[in-house]
Amino acid sequence: MTRCPVTLHDIYLARARISGQAVRTPLVKSVSLSERFEAEVYLKLETLQPSGAFKLRGALNAIAALDETALARGVTTASTGNHGRAVAWAASRLGARAIICVSELVPANKVAAIEALGAEVRTVGRSQDDAFVEARWLVEDESMTLIEPFDDPLIVAGQGTIGLELMEDVPELDRVLIGLSGGGLLGGIGCAVRGINPRVQVTGISMMHGAAMIESLAAGHPVAVEEVETLADSLGGGIGLENHCTWPLVREVMSDHCQVSEHAIACAMVHFLETEKMLVEGAAVVGLAALEEHAIDIRGERVALIVSGNGVDMATWQRAKNMVDP
Ligand SMILES: *Cc1c(COP(=O)(O)O)cnc(C)c1O
Repeated sequence: MTRCPVTLHDIYLARARISGQAVRTPLVKSVSLSERFEAEVYLKLETLQPSGAFKLRGALNAIAALDETALARGVTTASTGNHGRAVAWAASRLGARAIICVSELVPANKVAAIEALGAEVRTVGRSQDDAFVEARWLVEDESMTLIEPFDDPLIVAGQGTIGLELMEDVPELDRVLIGLSGGGLLGGIGCAVRGINPRVQVTGISMMHGAAMIESLAAGHPVAVEEVETLADSLGGGIGLENHCTWPLVREVMSDHCQVSEHAIACAMVHFLETEKMLVEGAAVVGLAALEEHAIDIRGERVALIVSGNGVDMATWQRAKNMVDP
């Protein structure tokens, strides 16, 4: 088995690179969840990053590591979600040109939001795959640097800085609940917290259908999955059949995992708005969804939930609300 070349030291280096740009987010205790689950439940508020999600950490680390020539040539990617926003924001802060490639199907408000963060948007083709082809072309022909969404040691190390902050704020942490898609978030945090204390449990949570990492671990190699619509849309997508970094890393640092229903995700989103007073996206609440479905028993533990992002539109929020009280 190959090993992802990310160490605790890389995560400390990432922290030095991104500090002052990424927010050291607060970890707040949830009184209601602590009482309900007879545990100490803490929320790590990555929603407070200026781009709205933790992905800023990895993007800043990857772009800050470029030399001046590469910075001048610029960076590109093909995401319209939290990764695209993070690359746009990080590049504009670090003085790099950024081109975010999107398909013609991407709504105008999403394009405008990325432009407002300081990036150029290039619209090509009718699918995400077409947008990716364009990004690869920019790499080939204009020597731009592709910023990967997860499968890159610098991205993983950037996301891992969350783990350092968790261990500083709650040194006796027992468990961390982490939304799992490509595994940059879980791989990074897992590497950090278990590097500091190997007894911390690292629990990965995905939606019921289209959970590419969980299916790839079960198969023993990266597999493609069919994409299914989900309230946790930031957890959709594959892990890459050529995955070389996050698949082996997640296999190494994840203690256990579970999958949650759409109804549980909806209930957790409603809890966040009505009780915690936070509007967050489905991917950010899968940890709570798992607790609500009794998939994990945390009684007596100190547990951190990674509230990973706030990229939710009102139509999706309404869909969640209707699932809870139709
Ligand atoms: C990307 C993302 C995740 C999952 O991160 P991976 O590194 O792909 O596993 C979870 N939550 C939100 C809000 C995200 O944007």
